[in-house]
Amino acid sequence: VWDNCLQTIRHSVDPQSYQTWFVPIRPVALNSNELTIQVPHRLFYEFLEEHYIDVLKLSLQHALGTAGRLQYRIKTARQENGQAPSTSKTPRGHQSPPPSNPFVIPGMTRPRIESNLDGKYTFDNFIEGDCNSLARNAAKAVADNPSNTAFNPLVIHGPVGLGKTHLLKAVGNRITEKYPNKSVLYVTTDTFTSQLVSSIGNNSTNDLVNWYQNVDVLLVDDIQQLINRKKTQDVFFNLFNVLRQNQKAIVMTCDRPIIELDIEERLRSRFQWGLTADLSAPALETRMAILASKASANQVDMSPQVMEFICYHIQNNIRQLEGVLNNLVLHRGVNNNKEIDLELARQVLKNFVTEINKEITPEVIQRTVAEYYNLDVEKLASATRRRHVVLARQISMFLVKQFTDQSLKGIGRLFGGRDHATVIYSIKTVKDLMETNDDIRKDLEDLERRIRAGHGEGS
Ligand code: ADP
Ligand code: MG
Repeated sequence: VWDNCLQTIRHSVDPQSYQTWFVPIRPVALNSNELTIQVPHRLFYEFLEEHYIDVLKLSLQHALGTAGRLQYRIKTARQENGQAPSTSKTPRGHQSPPPSNPFVIPGMTRPRIESNLDGKYTFDNFIEGDCNSLARNAAKAVADNPSNTAFNPLVIHGPVGLGKTHLLKAVGNRITEKYPNKSVLYVTTDTFTSQLVSSIGNNSTNDLVNWYQNVDVLLVDDIQQLINRKKTQDVFFNLFNVLRQNQKAIVMTCDRPIIELDIEERLRSRFQWGLTADLSAPALETRMAILASKASANQVDMSPQVMEFICYHIQNNIRQLEGVLNNLVLHRGVNNNKEIDLELARQVLKNFVTEINKEITPEVIQRTVAEYYNLDVEKLASATRRRHVVLARQISMFLVKQFTDQSLKGIGRLFGGRDHATVIYSIKTVKDLMETNDDIRKDLEDLERRIRAGHGEGS
């Protein structure tokens, strides 16, 4: 029966894949319409499930009719040593299924193993901004041409919630689409570690490593999880070398720059052979664009004012931004689909940020202006006389005067101890500019709106 299946399969896949993924399979039992096949290890099974499930089903239908069922059995170290095969042996470790339950495909209805690469994360739904353009372009370059070794390995690093995993999976998804014959594997460092641990318990580390060596594109998420894992580092070091020698693409992510990654030096230096690109916190505009895109993907309508209010408060973590959006949708649901307004947004945000200012304070104004002009807020109180800083400083003073009851002297103090005359001059300068300079007037309108939105007062 299996030979029969193989015939079908051979016609459906390319010779290389056939050789790699089907020749090693052994038929071990046939009970009425249920065929049991043995695969070398669990990852092999997962790969088959991921990439060849349809081919397998089809071949089975040919050989056994529509009632045909397929069972998997994982080959174990003991069997290799010539001992009795056992259906109950699967690799140990928390990744493994219950030992007494060999993997089963009952006809067509078996629930799929969650795939490593869900199609959800793509370049199309990754919003570009200054904070991510290098990383995004590098990732795209690898995805478009994985055999280009200039970027090998590519390491994307940055704090949590800024899109590392998204980009990594986008690489995988694009390669899968563009190069269907290339085998792409996404794995987190934790998963790799537990696979390694079970393979050690099982004497199949070689199998594991060999299996990984068949991969054309290896995507490893969160390599900071290598820290304090000496054995994983060793095995990964060897794997890395083989893959790179064979010009297989490697893309990794890390929550910190590689130089700060406390791992073996030889590994760290190799990680720096290719390209490293960082993701940093997105500016307000980028956050707005991301929120707008996620909102429209979820068919949520929100006014720009509400979006600004949200983005103003969630600054460093896009995952949180999504959390707010999801919460808004839930709240809207229980509130008879009433419109998402500032009040609702304020309610939801309370669960995400500790402080939603009630009052417009000078600090808030300074922060808003600094962010708007992309400056460190400290610059506003510094002695710098660089033109764009001076302008931002003058505008901040103007706005503080307008929004708070600070005295001129008090304002001077807030901006690095400037005197009363300087404050008066600054405010007058801004007033004049508003008359004569359309850009500045527009900036001020934007800023006022943001400052108000930041406080839920509306405009
Ligand atoms: P990380 O791996 O860096 O912790 P993720 O990749 O999991 O972060 O990103 C968190 C969430 O934010 C994901 O749902 C992702 O889609 C989203 N996200 C991050 N950056 C962007 C972006 N530039 N455009 C669209 N979505 C983004
Ligand atoms: Mg991640």
